[in-house]
Amino acid sequence: MEPEESKKLLRKLHEARDKLEQDLERLARDTDETEQELTAGLSYDDRVAGLAALAQDRELDFSLEEKVRMLLTRVNEAIREFKEDEYGICKSCGKPISPERLEFLPYVERCIDCQREQETR
Ligand SMILES: [Zn+2]
Repeated sequence: MEPEESKKLLRKLHEARDKLEQDLERLARDTDETEQELTAGLSYDDRVAGLAALAQDRELDFSLEEKVRMLLTRVNEAIREFKEDEYGICKSCGKPISPERLEFLPYVERCIDCQREQETR
């Protein structure tokens, strides 16, 4: 990966983490807040996609707060992987994830082939 590109991805990860932490604070403050109200304020399309992908991944119906927490955990993991130079590697097959996919979803865990395989199972 190009240094410029990885810098940009790391910045996106940090931004996603900050926003997710804000979401959690909002959720803790106002438990009546609906998913619709929260997602309406999202500035990142990929966060919505990320929440959906995670929920699908686990095949479980989590509450919004749990989903935000899971996503935050994943984002922190990705930041750690970055530091350990293990970022962008598919969790299933161990091959590098395509830069286009990382650009769209910086904290994605699997390459497109493995994701598809899981979805069709
Ligand atoms: Zn894979």
